[in-house]
Amino acid sequence: MKQLIALALFLLAWDLSAQTRMINRNPEIEKMVNEVKAENLEQYVRDLVDFGTRHTLSGTQDGNRGIVPAQQYVLEKFRSFEADAGGRLSSEIDMFDIPGDGRRIPEDAEIGNVVATLKGTDPNDDRIFLISGHLDSRASDVMDAEIDAPGANDDGSGVAVVIEAARILSKMEFPATIIFMAVSGEEQGLIGAVHMAKKAKEEDWNIVAMLNNDMVGNSYSSETHIKDNTRVRVFSEGIPLLETEEMGNMRRYTNGENDSKSRQLARYIKEIGDRYVDQLEVKLIYRNDRFLRGGDHTPFAREGFTAIRMTEYNENYHYHHQDVRVEDGQQYGDLPELVDYEYLRKITAVNLATLASLAAAPSAPENVGIDVSRLVNTSTLKWEKPATGNPKGYYVLMRETDQSMWEKKFYTEDLELTVPYSKDNYFFAVQAVDEKGNESLAVFPRPLRR
Ligand SMILES: [Zn+2]
Repeated sequence: MKQLIALALFLLAWDLSAQTRMINRNPEIEKMVNEVKAENLEQYVRDLVDFGTRHTLSGTQDGNRGIVPAQQYVLEKFRSFEADAGGRLSSEIDMFDIPGDGRRIPEDAEIGNVVATLKGTDPNDDRIFLISGHLDSRASDVMDAEIDAPGANDDGSGVAVVIEAARILSKMEFPATIIFMAVSGEEQGLIGAVHMAKKAKEEDWNIVAMLNNDMVGNSYSSETHIKDNTRVRVFSEGIPLLETEEMGNMRRYTNGENDSKSRQLARYIKEIGDRYVDQLEVKLIYRNDRFLRGGDHTPFAREGFTAIRMTEYNENYHYHHQDVRVEDGQQYGDLPELVDYEYLRKITAVNLATLASLAAAPSAPENVGIDVSRLVNTSTLKWEKPATGNPKGYYVLMRETDQSMWEKKFYTEDLELTVPYSKDNYFFAVQAVDEKGNESLAVFPRPLRR
C-alpha cells in the first residue's frame, strides 16, 4: 500500500512538472506554431522547383523558367499576405547591379532580393528581426545557368520557411519589425546577403537577430545512412567575426568566448524550440559554419550583426549541388520528393516561435553589469530598463562555466539582484520578460569595477 501511495505521489509530481512546462508556453505563440503546415511547405518547394532552374544568372527562359519568374512567385506570395496585415506588410524586389568578376559573375549583372517588411506597431521601437533563405539554386557546375537545378532542399526549403513564417506572422501585431527575405546570388558568393548586410550597416538598421535557413529539409545522410528528423543544427560564431581590440580585451578579461551575441541567440533558439516544438532537438554547433561552405548569415556577422545559420543535422552530398541523374543505381540531384516535409515543418516552427517571442518581447536590458569590485562569495548584477517595451521583470540567468545552456533563472522586478553563488564559478546574463512570458535576448554583463 505504501508503495502504491509513493507511486501515486511520484506520478502526480511528474505530471505537475509536465504541466508547469506547458504553462510556460505563451498560448498566442503556441497557436501560431500550430498553424505551420507541412502541406504548405511542400507546395512552396514544388512550386519553386517548377521553375526548372533558379540559377542566379538564369534570368527568364521560356517564359516560366529561371530565377526572374521565381522572384515574381515569391513576391506574389508576400503580396497575397498583405491583405491580412492591415497595411503593415510591404513587399518588393530589391534590384541592384553587381560588377562582373570574371569568375562566378562573368560579366556585369543585375540581381534581386525579394523582401517583405512587417512594420512594428511601436513607432519608438526600431528593432528589426530578419529571416532569410536563398532563392537561387545550382547543379554540379556552379556556372551552368541552363541545366535543371531544382534546388528543392538547397534552398527551396529555406525559402519555404520564410514564406510560411510571413504568412502566419503577418496576421499578428508585434511592436518590432520583422523582415522576410529570399536572396539571390548565394551560390555565386553570398552576393544578395552581402548587399543587404552592407545596406543595413550603412543605413544603421537595428538588426537584433538574423536567422539564416539554408538546407533545412533533408533527414537522410549520405555515406552513413542515418535517417533522423529529430535534430537541427544552429551554427553561431563564438569569437565574433567582427571584433574590435576593445571587444577582444573584454572577451579575454571576462572569458566570454562562449557568450557572443550570436551564441546567446543560438541558446535562445534552443530554449524556445524546446518549449514550443515537440520531437525536435536544437543542437548548438560551436562554429560559424561548416567546412568548405559559406552561408548568408556570415556577411551579417562580418558587419557586426547577431546572426546564425539553421541547417539540417545530416546532409546528403548526393542530393545537393548535383546534376539530376542516376549513376550506378544512385539518385543524384536536389529533388522535391527527397525533402522530409514533416522535418521542415518542425524547423519552420522553431523559426516562427523564435521570431514571435523576440518581436513581442521588450528589448534587452541596457548597461548590464556584474560587480567585480569586491572579493565575496555572492554575485551582484545591475542593469537599466530596456529602451522599448514593457518588461514585467527580469531573469538573471546562470550556468556553470563548462555548461552550454543556462541552468537557472532568478526572477526579479528590480534593476539589481544579488545571488548566493560566486561570480568566479558561474557565467551570468540578464534578460527582460513581459507579463506573457516573452523574453528578450540575454545580455552578458560587463565587469563593474567602480
Ligand atoms: Zn544553400
